Amino acid sequence: MTHSLPFSGVESQILSQVPLNRRTTWRIGGVTRWLATPKNCEELAQLWRQSADDIPRFLLGGGSNILVEDSGFNGLAVNLSQHINQIKLLDDDEGLQIMAEAGASTSALAHFARLHSLTGAEFLGGIPGTIGGAVKMNAGANGGDIAKILINAQLLDCNGNSHIWPVEKLGLGYRKSQIPKGWIFVKGTFKLKHGEQKAIKEKMRQFNQHRLKSQPLNYASAGSTFKNPTKGPAAWKLIDDAGFRGMRIGDAQVSEKHSNFLVNLGKATSYDMLALIDKIREKVIQKTGESLNLEVAILGPQGFRGKDL
Ligand SMILES: Cc1cc2nc3c(=O)[nH]c(=O)nc-3n(C[C@H](O)[C@H](O)[C@H](O)COP(=O)(O)OP(=O)(O)OC[C@H]3O[C@@H](n4cnc5c(N)ncnc54)[C@H](O)[C@@H]3O)c2cc1C
Repeated sequence: MTHSLPFSGVESQILSQVPLNRRTTWRIGGVTRWLATPKNCEELAQLWRQSADDIPRFLLGGGSNILVEDSGFNGLAVNLSQHINQIKLLDDDEGLQIMAEAGASTSALAHFARLHSLTGAEFLGGIPGTIGGAVKMNAGANGGDIAKILINAQLLDCNGNSHIWPVEKLGLGYRKSQIPKGWIFVKGTFKLKHGEQKAIKEKMRQFNQHRLKSQPLNYASAGSTFKNPTKGPAAWKLIDDAGFRGMRIGDAQVSEKHSNFLVNLGKATSYDMLALIDKIREKVIQKTGESLNLEVAILGPQGFRGKDL
């Protein structure tokens, strides 16, 4: 169902009561009250300016790093994948810079770079989701992360005004950024290096092989559920040692293949997943004193729990 109120004068398509379980990789969650898919950056700015401050709102990328509660989201979700997804080579002296918009997929950027014989973005090839989500989370793998290749970003503040920030200002760290609350990443410039296309392709193939071997990619998940502690054993090891491999609550299960991947066997609810998360945290802290922090963000009716945006 399309819906224009309460965003008067905004032309973007706005659907109402849209199930979010079909738009997240965990396949869990209730409906969002509205979902907007702006046609271009001007419409996005207009929408952001005009959606009242008292309406909860958030940017939905590929939904590969969020757990939406069964009660859904009582506000405006905005998705840029459909229209704000351009990737192009920039006209710099060395031909090393790429502009990518927030809604483009991370793997599209990796393949675009490969086609232009540019190296440095291979790690993005197997990470699901969009450039927007990847910048917000400083996504990374195989020794690479967004912070290493992004040079600047165009952002919209809460009132829809545009700002260009150098990467240093974004505060990118281990699976986090300090993009201010309520701001949107719209597009970024990435700087890569010249490389050999065959070698780039081979690197991407190897990264994907490793993923296939080590991750339960045939099940719905959000990747690693917990962040690795700054020192000591990785999260998967702590979960494993606490005896959780294969443990199940309803249809939420700790993967047999990778203990930091919690998978949805089919009909898991957010209630099941959160119960499993709580159980793991409780046991790990009891056993090791280590408090596991979530990598995934939890979205409830009023927004992200304990998080910005
Ligand atoms: C099988 C699997 C494997 C994975 N492997 C990896 C991995 O190797 N490395 C890794 O880092 N992650 C990994 N992930 C997690 C996830 O893919 C990344 O965090 C990804 O970058 C999230 O992007 P997204 O577009 O899906 O973001 P979403 O999940 O939609 O959103 C994540 C956060 O970003 C915000 N956001 C989205 N777009 C914007 C925007 N334009 N402006 C501001 N904020 C925005 C959202 O509001 C939310 O807070 C994996 C996930 C899966 C399912």
